[in-house]
Amino acid sequence: MKDLIKKAAEDLIKAKHAIALSGAGISTESGIPDFRGPSGIWSKDPEAEKRAYQSYGKFLEDPKEYWEERLSAPSLLGDLDRAEPNPGHCALAELEKMGILKCLITQNVDGLHEKAGSRNLIEYHGSYLKLRCSKCGSRFSIEEIDLEELRREEKLPPLCKCGGVIKSDVVHFREPIPVDAAKRSQEEAWRCDLMLICGTSAVVYPFAQLPRLAKKHMIEKETKTESGLYVVKQVPAATIIEVNAEPTPLTEEGISDYLIQGKTGEILPEIVQEVKRIVI
Ligand SMILES: [Zn+2]
Repeated sequence: MKDLIKKAAEDLIKAKHAIALSGAGISTESGIPDFRGPSGIWSKDPEAEKRAYQSYGKFLEDPKEYWEERLSAPSLLGDLDRAEPNPGHCALAELEKMGILKCLITQNVDGLHEKAGSRNLIEYHGSYLKLRCSKCGSRFSIEEIDLEELRREEKLPPLCKCGGVIKSDVVHFREPIPVDAAKRSQEEAWRCDLMLICGTSAVVYPFAQLPRLAKKHMIEKETKTESGLYVVKQVPAATIIEVNAEPTPLTEEGISDYLIQGKTGEILPEIVQEVKRIVI
């Protein structure tokens, strides 16, 4: 384990364009339930899952009712406003500040990476702290639009300047990934030479294609053979490191180069310490 943490730190320092992916596993340590784990939201309440499947259809059909229902329903994720980033979130923000991590793509909608200070952040499935225009894609913070007042004045749904109807930024089932997030994520996955995967088994598509895309990217590298000749070989462009509690399909399919098994809240800070030890 110690050896792998050291290796990850060295690989991160060497990388020219390191990026990270994160998923529910990094936030469960902040008390936010995941969806499909043993005590996940959907596992415990299949009816809530059914309702969630209907959200996007409802928005398209009757956005006023969509908003009225959302404003009266309790949050599925519990009291998100009280949740705080944990050492795993902070470690990723610190790696960005050190100039090592260039981008973070998260599946989480809890806003904790932003709270921890990550700036070049792609919230692939949106954020519960934001709203998004369904027509032009503009985003607004939830403070910018007083939804309760609009409800009292019978002015729901909120409308954008462009005339488009505003929905939650959170991407619902059956809703396509917002074009900007999808495009930037693909570019980053293709461009990176290191991908640090934190707390996600990456099985939900289309997010799941990102590590597979990085794996597919081969580059030509000149290497010296034993007889002293130089030959050009096809090698993977990116080193893929997994930090997950258990092996995942990424481990089993050989997508990741190595797995550091454990809690992201413990392993990621150790990687940061090791990076500092080497660099300073
Ligand atoms: Zn708009």
